[in-house]
Amino acid sequence: MDPRSVLITGGSRGIGAAVAHAFAAQGDRVAVTYRSRPPAEGALPGEVLALPCDVTVPEQVADALKQAEEAHGPVQVLVANAGIAHDVLLLRMTEEDFTGVLDTNLTGAFRVVKAVSPKMLRARSGRIVLISSAVALRGEAGQANYAASKAGLIGMARSLAREFAPRAVTVNVVAPGLTETDMSAALTEEQRAALIAGIPLGRMGRPDEVAAAVRFLASAEASYITGAIVPVDGAAGTGH
Ligand code: NDP
Repeated sequence: MDPRSVLITGGSRGIGAAVAHAFAAQGDRVAVTYRSRPPAEGALPGEVLALPCDVTVPEQVADALKQAEEAHGPVQVLVANAGIAHDVLLLRMTEEDFTGVLDTNLTGAFRVVKAVSPKMLRARSGRIVLISSAVALRGEAGQANYAASKAGLIGMARSLAREFAPRAVTVNVVAPGLTETDMSAALTEEQRAALIAGIPLGRMGRPDEVAAAVRFLASAEASYITGAIVPVDGAAGTGH
């Protein structure tokens, strides 16, 4: 396959950085964005372009896209991965706790998809992968905001899969379970042990295992897959 222009939001660390490695390893031209913390030394392959961009700020999305396109050409693969969690039980959850998570995880993905899709539709080719979560389908106490945002991504992806299908642009979702990143490092030992007890494979996932699914959905082999949700969760979400 010819090298493609790939844009990954929230690609400075964790799952996004693993996705950047996966695409760079096959020779694609990769740009990642981060909100405030530039990638640590050695976190990404040298040729990957790292751009500051808060997905809650439309002008920053437009600027980052412009820079990515100037460096690598129109985006052919978008991975909307930037996300945050802010866990609070509902009785203590403020409106800001709720809308803040929605604005980053769901509306942020909407902003980047809207920015890249005109050129994909014109080119009659493109791959969009949204990073949701196993929690979108099964829910989790303390995560009403996060689960709502991640479930929203599924509705958005399925709608866009139908809308973009006539132009051969595919839109799919990867739903990771508990994965070893900074986000899961915020859990207490007790919380982690309880969550691992609910995973049939008996361990957390690795970012590279999520990245492999993303890379496949963006590949030529996945040309007839759109509107799909691919769990990468050690069977934690089966039945949902
Ligand atoms: P990390 O917390 O390790 O990394 C998050 C990335 O998103 C960072 O690059 C961060 O940038 C960026 N980011 C956060 N907020 C914004 C914003 N407003 N604008 C732009 N970029 C932003 O997360 P993970 O790698 O663990 O998670 C990646 C995705 O996978 C998320 O969407 C998450 O919800 C999802 N996921 C994670 C799971 C897990 O167990 N880890 C399980 C299921 C889903 P900066 O460093 O500058 O803050």
